[in-house]
Amino acid sequence: MCGVIGMVGKSPVNQALYDGLTVLQHRGQDAAGIMTYDNGRLHLRKDNGLVRDVFSAEDMLQLRGNVGIGHCRYPTAGCSSSAESQPFYVNSPYGISIAHNGNLTNASDIKRDLFLADLRHINTSSDSEVLLNAFAHKLGELGKLRVSETDIFDAVANIHERCRGGYAAIAMINGYGILGFRDPNGIRPLCYGSRDTDAGTEYMIASESVALDVLGFTLIRDVAPGEAVLIDLQGNLYTRQCAAAPQLAPCIFEYVYLARPDSMLDDVSVYKSRLRMGRTLAGKIRREWAHHDIDVVIPIPDTSRTAALDLANDLNILYREGFIKNRYIGRTFIMPGQAVRKKSVRQKLNPIELEFRGKNVLLLDDSIVRGTTSEQIIQMAREAGANKVFFASAAPPVRYPNVYGIDMPAAQELIAHNRSVEEIRAVIGADDMIYQDLDDLVEAVRGKNTGLREFDCSCFDGRYVTGDITAEYLLALETERADAMRVGAPLQSNRLAGMNS
Ligand code: AMP
Repeated sequence: MCGVIGMVGKSPVNQALYDGLTVLQHRGQDAAGIMTYDNGRLHLRKDNGLVRDVFSAEDMLQLRGNVGIGHCRYPTAGCSSSAESQPFYVNSPYGISIAHNGNLTNASDIKRDLFLADLRHINTSSDSEVLLNAFAHKLGELGKLRVSETDIFDAVANIHERCRGGYAAIAMINGYGILGFRDPNGIRPLCYGSRDTDAGTEYMIASESVALDVLGFTLIRDVAPGEAVLIDLQGNLYTRQCAAAPQLAPCIFEYVYLARPDSMLDDVSVYKSRLRMGRTLAGKIRREWAHHDIDVVIPIPDTSRTAALDLANDLNILYREGFIKNRYIGRTFIMPGQAVRKKSVRQKLNPIELEFRGKNVLLLDDSIVRGTTSEQIIQMAREAGANKVFFASAAPPVRYPNVYGIDMPAAQELIAHNRSVEEIRAVIGADDMIYQDLDDLVEAVRGKNTGLREFDCSCFDGRYVTGDITAEYLLALETERADAMRVGAPLQSNRLAGMNS
């Protein structure tokens, strides 16, 4: 998972792109980059690290121009090379760059064809470079000195035919402008908005609406699945549906964990969806634990706080913030290697003993992936003096890997893979545990948006909306991931979700 942003402004865009990337930083803390366009010249700065560490004042001065794109990258198994930070760039035709969020599930096939038939060399193991070259190749085939909107939209249509998987991307075409497009299932989010200045209207395309809000842009709408949005250098905006059979099936995990609560994704407030997750889970607790003796609901910060609030309200139980988070430590999941990950849960969260002592506590997390966090947190709650420790998850059991751009561990590493809820409870050491049902999660996310019929729920139900994920693919994914973890090397094949962008 990554964050992407692009802007056509009326004055230099470097600061706005930088600020936007800091707002999207939760989508990727591994690497960051910005490329700007100025009078036929492109300027690029990218490297590993947080946005605030990658760009110096001097770098910012070099990023001249009123048009540009930016990217922040999520770390994935074995992929830590700064050469794979984005935007990626190809000089032919025109000079095109791309910032991409998602994962192409047939990247290795495309890579082979790009080499054998299109005579293009891909220099990294990133599927984003594959996407860029496939797009550039299609435009180059036209042999024109200057492309039209129709040519660009036709090239996106070709991408939809050629590429499978989840992708939300922003490309910048030298001399033309920027282009945002979303895969035909709309798995990864993308939206656009505008702001008026004395010099005219400026446009921004971004992964999440929160980037637009913070920079004073008004959200126009989400980019539809399969649609492309083109903004030329003069600030003219064009849109076209480029997919033959688009259907909206956004990744439900964005609402569960990935997106910022103050974003709107596909017309649903992430915050409100999390409140509803709390209420639907409260309903299940009432149904299944009618005689519960929970004294207090305690969220595991930060994401689950929203759901925990309405879970407690709905059950009419005390809500307490019993764990305090050290803000200056990275997310648990992104630490390399299980040993470090274990240690960092304790470094990150500290219990307020008085909120636990002698009480029956219900701990709520947004999701349980490997179970490392839950196991340790339960132990911490007991050490803090809790009487009974119950555990709840605002999402259903994560049983299958994600292949569309979230760095989910291979199936064997998922605590819920091939385990019943009772077995999971025993492993994490809870007195009792409860998971949200998938139907309830879907209902909670959909809310009143009846237009949202489908979601990609693959990490919960193993149904992959692109229809191309086979058992062999998942097995290869697992093997390659294990190898990459072992040697700490970048993944070599583009087929696998390990190269999520
Ligand atoms: P785990 O210890 O693996 O069970 O971690 C679960 C925690 O990681 C939950 O509290 C989530 O907030 C968080 N989480 C879930 N999915 C991801 C992800 N793909 N990347 C980083 N953190 C995640």
